[in-house]
Amino acid sequence: MSLHNQSSNKKSTIVIVGGGAGGLSLLNNLSTTIDPDEQRVILIDARPTMIHLASTLRLVVSDADNLLKRSIHPYGDHTFRNKLTGTGIFIHASVKEIDFGKPGDGGILTLDNGGTVAYDVLVLATGSTWPRPIAFPTENMNKITEHVQKIRAEFAAAQDILLVGGGSVGIELSGELRDVFPSKPITIIHREKYLLNATYPDKYRIAVQKQLEGRGITILTGDAISALDASNVAGSQISRDGFITEQGKTLKADLVIPTWGTRPNTTYLPSDLLSSTGHVKILPTFQLPAHPNVFAFGDIMDWNEQKTAANASFFQAPKVAKNIILYLRESEGIAKYNGSFVMIMVTNGKTSGMSYFNILWGIIVGGWISSLMKSKDLMVSRISGMTGYTPV
Ligand SMILES: Cc1cc2nc3c(=O)[nH]c(=O)nc-3n(C[C@H](O)[C@H](O)[C@H](O)COP(=O)(O)OP(=O)(O)OC[C@H]3O[C@@H](n4cnc5c(N)ncnc54)[C@H](O)[C@@H]3O)c2cc1C
Repeated sequence: MSLHNQSSNKKSTIVIVGGGAGGLSLLNNLSTTIDPDEQRVILIDARPTMIHLASTLRLVVSDADNLLKRSIHPYGDHTFRNKLTGTGIFIHASVKEIDFGKPGDGGILTLDNGGTVAYDVLVLATGSTWPRPIAFPTENMNKITEHVQKIRAEFAAAQDILLVGGGSVGIELSGELRDVFPSKPITIIHREKYLLNATYPDKYRIAVQKQLEGRGITILTGDAISALDASNVAGSQISRDGFITEQGKTLKADLVIPTWGTRPNTTYLPSDLLSSTGHVKILPTFQLPAHPNVFAFGDIMDWNEQKTAANASFFQAPKVAKNIILYLRESEGIAKYNGSFVMIMVTNGKTSGMSYFNILWGIIVGGWISSLMKSKDLMVSRISGMTGYTPV
């Protein structure tokens, strides 16, 4: 498929790459502010479906709550609402390369299906790459379902599970596993002194650890296994003698799941646009310094804060939407991002969890209140509000 401006009555074309938490929030913001006679919107995503990341760790452990249907929503006409109804275009493809043109001019995207798409304004919101259990295929729903069933079967067959990395993915996955497998040995090994990272106060990190230990999950902090051992995820490849950790402990796991290694999804961009961590360098207006018609936000943006859907959806997307319209109208008043406040909610299965809000003296909320805020439903009931799709 090739989409170029000549075929569109000289409307400005806004292309959004990535229909995740940030991209869909942006689309929904634009759907009320756009002038459909002047602008059109194209959404491109590597997958045919939006996958709600916050519910994926429950999804890959068991069929609880029918999440294969409820957490994964196809893109389609319903994705484009309000003033975008009937005019938005969705393309299922992965962006491989971008010809940015001259600064301020439009450019051209090259897709993995060989097609090209021209843009006047481009927004990059391609998120992160995640560890294997939640690194979902891109082709179609059948492949995604196969992946989910394979991971579920691995967990069910394992006698002793080792999660490598005690960030939020390792923590939440351990809680989901404990819900479904009440007596299976589960260990988290984490290189730092406490779980998570130094963004959060020690007292919160210690409280998370105690809560997990209270459910019989073994936590080894200040320790690690070699990268080679951590990558041997298939049971048959794991030594019967187990692993010796850097601190000399022997672990006998027969399933090793790396839960670390999250990276910004930016390999399609030239390195001069990226920071040393692979994030996209932006101005506080979300514009790329050399390309005022190109915006980047969400997990991929180079900004010193934790990457969350809340930040992308509530604190960034409305400003990106405003700035796009102002840019196209050559108007003043462009909005700048000042960051958001630190907050985190980690689940511990369905009925528990631990949250931290960096407000007042730094508030920690545990147990059932965290469960009501996130763990119980994982915010699944809100997905339709983002995607415009109601699962059948
Ligand atoms: C298990 C888990 C729990 C979480 N819990 C929370 C929580 O409780 N609260 C919270 O605020 N955040 C949470 N997060 C983080 C949150 O999901 C992310 O920060 C958020 O999704 C980032 O939004 P985004 O739009 O930048 O990227 P994403 O939502 O990841 O969307 C990126 C999209 O880009 C597409 N894409 C990638 N590359 C290409 C390409 N080359 N071409 C075309 N399309 C492409 C992808 O298919 C994807 O649909 C959690 C994450 C995980 C994994």
